[in-house]
Amino acid sequence: MLVESSPIEVQRQVRSVRLQRRLIGVVPTMGALHDGHRSLIEAARSNVDYVIATIFVNPTQFGPGEDFSRYPRTLDQDLEICRAAGADLVFTPSAAAMYSSSAQTVVKVSSLTTVLEGAHRPGHFDGVSTVVCKLLNITDPDRAYFGQKDFQQQLVIRQMVNDLNFPVEIVTCPIVREPDGLAMSSRNRYLTSSERVVAGEISKTLKLAESMATSAGVAPSMIADEMRKKLASVSGMEISYAVVVDAMTLQDVSQRPDGDAVALIAARVGTTRLIDNAILQFR
Ligand code: AMP
Repeated sequence: MLVESSPIEVQRQVRSVRLQRRLIGVVPTMGALHDGHRSLIEAARSNVDYVIATIFVNPTQFGPGEDFSRYPRTLDQDLEICRAAGADLVFTPSAAAMYSSSAQTVVKVSSLTTVLEGAHRPGHFDGVSTVVCKLLNITDPDRAYFGQKDFQQQLVIRQMVNDLNFPVEIVTCPIVREPDGLAMSSRNRYLTSSERVVAGEISKTLKLAESMATSAGVAPSMIADEMRKKLASVSGMEISYAVVVDAMTLQDVSQRPDGDAVALIAARVGTTRLIDNAILQFR
């Protein structure tokens, strides 16, 4: 497994892989890897010939007062996980290598980024779409792998890739969870043991939403009300949002939809902001 921090060297390596007509997959991450990340690398491994993982804590997607400086950085362990999961190349750029001080370009996806995470974290998705655009240009993949865990993010990336004609297929992989249901996240390591118990209520609430959706006559708004009621009764949790929205547009759905809907929750437990979601199948 190659480990490379220079964008130009990665581009050189990718060019030689392309000359061999091998399919390339990329898995962008911010490191502090867990089994969720591992599942993305393994999905790529089973799907393409050459697997690139990227590890970069992207400063431009963190707002002032967010956790950029304390975000966990565990490079040695991360490289072990990448190796075990079958990565061929790990790209570990520095911030200086990614952003020149004279840079003037930002990639901005408009309406999808005005709601939910975009509304609560101004500028976050500009940072995400710009860095993913750069990572796709550097790694020139046939496929790029993202987690459903960051549901809005994968929609924003799909929109960007379509709008800007990137010749890349976006693959969204299922959420990997702890045994009690908590969605795996690099931020879970911030939680104290009592906060960890409180955090478990998020996935329990999504389970409730999933089961309500399968009962005839239950409207999305009733599910969202029930989710908010359940979460409001949990002490030690501050809800950012708990909604049921169209899974393509992220707009509210009031009637039982024809297409997919998704229940999304963001909540703060102690100082840790957690997000999770579940696709709802209305039958
Ligand atoms: P991050 O390092 O948090 O930026 O995440 C890198 C990628 O891993 C993103 O596409 C995430 O959606 C994905 N990811 C994070 N947590 C999970 C999880 N529990 N299950 C599946 N994918 C995940």
